[in-house]
Amino acid sequence: MLKPESYACGQWIAPGADAQTIIGPVSAQPIAQAGGAALDFGAMLDWARAHGGPALRAMTFHQRAKMLKALAGYLDARKEELYAINPLTGATRRDGWVDIDGGIGTMFLFAAKGRREMPDGHVYIDGEVEQLGRKGGFLGQHIAVPLQGAAVHINAFNFPVWGMLEKLAPALLAGVPCIVKPATQTCYLTEACFRMIIESGLLPDGAVQLVIGRTGDLLDRLGAQDAVAFTGSADTALLLRGNQNLLRHSVRFTSEQDSLNAAILGPDADAGGPEFDLFVTEAVTEITTKAGQKCTAMRRLIVPQARLDDVAQALSARLAEVTVGDPADAAMRMGALASHAARDDVLDRLARLKAEARVLCGDTAPDLPGAFLNPTLLTCDDPDAASAVHEIEAFGPVATLLPCRDTAHAAQLANASGGSLVASLFTKDAGVARDVTLASAAHHGRLYIMNRTAAPEATGHGSPLPHMIHGGPGRAGGGEELGGIRGVLHYMQRTAIQGSPDMLSAITETWIKGSAEVTGPDHPFQRTFREIAIGETIHTPARTVTLEDIEHFARFTGDTFYAHMDDEAARANPFFPGRVAHGYLLLSFAAGLFVQPDPGPVLANTGLNALSFQKPVSPGDSIAVRLTCKRKTARTDSYGEVAWNATLTNQEGAQVAEYELLTMVAYDRA
Ligand code: NDP
Repeated sequence: MLKPESYACGQWIAPGADAQTIIGPVSAQPIAQAGGAALDFGAMLDWARAHGGPALRAMTFHQRAKMLKALAGYLDARKEELYAINPLTGATRRDGWVDIDGGIGTMFLFAAKGRREMPDGHVYIDGEVEQLGRKGGFLGQHIAVPLQGAAVHINAFNFPVWGMLEKLAPALLAGVPCIVKPATQTCYLTEACFRMIIESGLLPDGAVQLVIGRTGDLLDRLGAQDAVAFTGSADTALLLRGNQNLLRHSVRFTSEQDSLNAAILGPDADAGGPEFDLFVTEAVTEITTKAGQKCTAMRRLIVPQARLDDVAQALSARLAEVTVGDPADAAMRMGALASHAARDDVLDRLARLKAEARVLCGDTAPDLPGAFLNPTLLTCDDPDAASAVHEIEAFGPVATLLPCRDTAHAAQLANASGGSLVASLFTKDAGVARDVTLASAAHHGRLYIMNRTAAPEATGHGSPLPHMIHGGPGRAGGGEELGGIRGVLHYMQRTAIQGSPDMLSAITETWIKGSAEVTGPDHPFQRTFREIAIGETIHTPARTVTLEDIEHFARFTGDTFYAHMDDEAARANPFFPGRVAHGYLLLSFAAGLFVQPDPGPVLANTGLNALSFQKPVSPGDSIAVRLTCKRKTARTDSYGEVAWNATLTNQEGAQVAEYELLTMVAYDRA
């Protein structure tokens, strides 16, 4: 008998006298006892706020990203221990791959994005500097900083590992400690993974805690610096988001709840064609993976009336081949539902769907004691008059075919479920894709547009990807998770900082135009990553640009555009006073002016951002460069990226060009 334990204030706490017995969905026998322990939720929150939060916030985004990478690697090395438990939940190994490898992959992805897209500092810069005063002395900058409370994660039964890791990764990267509450039915698998996290020793004390069983007065104790992320039923979401304490303190509440996702077969997809086959294959996957217990699973299959019979036949034939039984048996394609109660619930909802739709296949169960149900396909003749097919989610291997008249009707039916997590469209016609997107995007968190080009690399309708937002409007909960760094920002406060350039520079650890320039002891290209200071600046001497320079550059590069070579044609152009220097010539001269040629810590020039040419440079004009260290970002163990602001001015001091130059610079001298 498994006895999953809670983890509170650094201690493991065994199930209490009132522990709930969990019946295995495969064996129909008791497999675990969970919950029932008296947890002190006030002490848990104090522990998170006093230990986990400060320790996490003391780290930079990059340090937290490295911590996540190490943790994902640790879990990856031990994942077979999780696969060994996985069949107890009713899931096959393939289902487990989505849950276990999917969760670990999500953590890896956030680790990589954290290092690539966030600064190696404590403040996340959101957008550009806004000039609020006329002379540039009063500026504005949006920043984001971690919330100073705790994140409470309430997860669903269907993805015991992914459900935990996909919420932990962005919250920990943000710098917020977490209290995880898994669904009781599958909590022993979550606990096994959570135990590994603690055993890894990679997270600071208080960064994560685990609640097995009820949450008691936890939500009543949350405040303005805390956040709740919930996945589960719409009814529970409604109950929890209505908690008076959460409302009183405006506690952030993100919800992922049931969603009647649609898949549309395009009018151009002929039977037997690639898009038709993709539609059928993906529908089978969606109906059978995790026995259909996926928040993103296709529930409504919207098909042109003329293709309905073809799809019904192809799908019924494929579903009839699906083997259903013990998920530990590799020959079984589909396992059990998560519990007998879950199956009863699906059967109850199926009965209500059958009032509007006919059964084409399934609606039967193998003769086994477990909570099994064969894949079931329904068809609804009049989806405009129907309501249950758009409202009742049978959270199992069940989908309904809905005939449509045309693309507009298909979009209308897809939108009829009041908001969903994902809708997909199978078409090779870009016009159809655009029409459906414009008609439908507002109703769905994600649109998955599939054709023969995307298919070889596609990850599937039902796979929320950590790069892309997961969530949807209305019935789907109105929330967003994941979405790359957007998901991290859900655990941070966006604040508008207003002040002088020096203040903004100090806060953001970024040189902002107008803030003080620093003069270093040496040329900045001779300074190591560690030595160079934000704001360190050089001003180069000027160089005159001659007509001979321009002609030489034109001949040398082959760029003989008329504005550089033909005075009359150039004068006819409203942008130019006559022949002008090539912009790329100016960039090359600029490099010639600011570069220090000797071997030194600068390893490579890796790019250039936000280049703009603001004023033409005529023969006889001279240019000078101001080069300023704008930002430093650690990249590897031996070097980091230094971003420089390069501003070119002419003999009158007018700015002619500006860009951000990126270089890789060694931490130490060779
Ligand atoms: P529930 O809403 O019952 O449970 C979801 C989570 O909330 C579980 O961790 C549960 O814990 C917890 N919970 C329930 N009541 C409370 C409470 N009063 N206070 C604090 N926590 C609470 O959903 P189920 O897991 O039973 O799934 C039911 C339905 O939810 C499915 O049929 C499906 O429609 C939908 N669903 C949607 C998902 C999605 O991702 N959008 C995923 C999974 C389900 P405990 O288990 O201990 O009760």
